Amino acid sequence: MTMAEKIKEIIDQAKSAGRTYLMEHESKAILEELGISTTGSVMARSEEEAVEIFHSMASPVALKVLSPEVVHKSDAGGVKLHLDKEEEVRGAYRDIARAFQGKKVEGISVQRMAQPGIEAIVGVANDSTFGPVLMFGLGGVFVEVLKDVSFRSIPITRSDAQDMIEEIRGYKLLKGSRGHSADIEGLKDLLMSISDLVASETCIWEMDLNPVFLYPQGYTVVDARIILGEPRASPPARKEGQDLHDLFYPQSIAVIGASGTPGKLGWNVFTNLVSHKFQGKLYPVNPRAEEIHGIKAYPRISAVPEPVDVAIILVSAGTTADVVEECCQCGVRYIVVESAGFAELGPEGKKIELQMKEIADRYGVRLLGPNCSGIINTHCSMVQSIGIVDALSQGNIGLVSQAGVCAAGMLWGLRHIMDFGIIATIGNKLDINETDIMEAVSKDKNINVICMYLESVKGGRRFIDQARRITREKPMVVLKSGRTEAGKKAVASHTASLAGNDQIYSAVFRQSGIIRARDYEHMFNLARAISKQPLPDRDGVFIITYAGSLGVIAADAITDNGMRLSELEEPLKQRLMDLLPDYVCGMNPVDYTFSQDARIVKSTIEIGVKSSDVGSFIVILQAEILESYVDALKSIDYKGKPIIACVAGKEFEMPGVIKMEKAGIPVFSTPEQVADALGIMYRHYQRINRKD
Ligand code: ADP
Ligand code: MG
Repeated sequence: MTMAEKIKEIIDQAKSAGRTYLMEHESKAILEELGISTTGSVMARSEEEAVEIFHSMASPVALKVLSPEVVHKSDAGGVKLHLDKEEEVRGAYRDIARAFQGKKVEGISVQRMAQPGIEAIVGVANDSTFGPVLMFGLGGVFVEVLKDVSFRSIPITRSDAQDMIEEIRGYKLLKGSRGHSADIEGLKDLLMSISDLVASETCIWEMDLNPVFLYPQGYTVVDARIILGEPRASPPARKEGQDLHDLFYPQSIAVIGASGTPGKLGWNVFTNLVSHKFQGKLYPVNPRAEEIHGIKAYPRISAVPEPVDVAIILVSAGTTADVVEECCQCGVRYIVVESAGFAELGPEGKKIELQMKEIADRYGVRLLGPNCSGIINTHCSMVQSIGIVDALSQGNIGLVSQAGVCAAGMLWGLRHIMDFGIIATIGNKLDINETDIMEAVSKDKNINVICMYLESVKGGRRFIDQARRITREKPMVVLKSGRTEAGKKAVASHTASLAGNDQIYSAVFRQSGIIRARDYEHMFNLARAISKQPLPDRDGVFIITYAGSLGVIAADAITDNGMRLSELEEPLKQRLMDLLPDYVCGMNPVDYTFSQDARIVKSTIEIGVKSSDVGSFIVILQAEILESYVDALKSIDYKGKPIIACVAGKEFEMPGVIKMEKAGIPVFSTPEQVADALGIMYRHYQRINRKD
């Protein structure tokens, strides 16, 4: 029998007995098949048999109850340890047999005692969004108290395994502390084997290897349980046929429900398209209008004489399904449903959604929304937003937002300090989901950074695989809300009880190289920094300030973020010394007090640019003369080193801030924010430059 056949046999046996739970001896047999080292388990059905097995083994041994009805054996008095003598084995056997008299007992396991080691847990849980996830943690039986665990979506790579191990708080313990250490490579082998097993055995839903004892050489699995379920469905695949390019760059747009009456949403959307001078053709569709904004209107979509790439639907929810059908019939390629009143309102709306989906699928037409605010693409002057949007500049940031209001509403202010290329709102994600959009935007040459606001992920594992590919070239910053968890279900395994939805999101974001933002301000700070500045390729930071305190805070903050103060080479030190007024002593931070001006800041940066120890700059500038720095900072050749400005009270000096931002230098209000961003950018640089 092959390994796979043996494993299948064990699983099938349990299934045919109507069980969804593999007992310790069965679970360990599967692990042993995979070459995973365990303490073994031989089943005894009588006291005499137990004694016989004991004599065939090196003592001491452990005895454990094997019962399909007992999940946590020791809690119920089903584990007896350190048995050295035959008498002890007999006593333990009788004790266990007595304790489980009323229960269904398969037998009693006799196994060798493992040498003490560092107690760890390796487990598997099934996440409703991403499917099977692997967990690693410290603490063995205390894992729920310590909560020192890490997760990754299955399958994992070897560097994922390394990350899982490094991520836990107790990593130092594993590397070696007070005479204890763990075989990290061996542990990675174990994680990889479990990932492979679960990836191929789709009916394994949960697993606890708890504890696993870790040794300086090798490890041993002391206890194992596996929970079975229906074979997992494969993750949703990408819809074939269309790469969404023309959804973002259409030649023609029809607006069904376009209106000539100000205040109506149909007026807003059509006005946005006209006032931003959309580069393709526009067809307003409205049975009661001859023309809107001077453009000939049509009574229905089927009356439009030319092919339509994108139809935006703004009619009331009740009539959308019919309109979708009509669009499909007359060859529309993409449908954007901006109307609201669907699944978000209840079962009636859900029903209409399903109708629309069925129609679109039948015709092979892709549909965005409903309940969204369309797409903005500044590179073809296309604004489909439901709220009026003022002039925009072309930019390199792609924003994918679940909520329309967030995307368009915020633009009003943000457009002064950051420029977007594409803003796509996805609403209820009936057909096109966040993963489809992310994939399409990632291929757009105009986009260098992708931001996302998400409340959920529909693409499952494909989201991870795509993001992992994309983030190597284009950084992704994601804000995921909905962190508070709805009531937890009762679960049989430790792993499942620890696999909170939000932890899993954080883990898959790390696995994909996605930067997780804490809040909106954080997301847009990072987006500005990353879209305007290169990533630092080393950890040395050069700080220039006018206020000692802010310089010290910046120095602390960069240390907190895993960076350090850079040190100039001797000749550069000398050059800086010549520049410094007598009363300035520090070389980093360089504190010019109120004699700081544009000229001296520029000269100082130019010295820093030459140093091989400087990876990035923090300039702490005076708000009252902010505008005076702009030209000088703009004219420097930074040789690929990033700079971020810090201006305390910048909120009250917006004209200067806007000029600085337009010159490509991000302005943050505190040193901590700057250090946080640089630290994140540096770690991202390290991640994309390592080998997977
Ligand atoms: P359960 O988790 O079902 O309560 P375990 O098999 O994990 O039962 O046993 C409980 C504890 O007993 C383990 O956490 C471990 O500390 C200890 N133990 C169990 N089996 C062995 C063994 N073979 N060698 C050493 N210690 C063991
Ligand atoms: Mg256990």
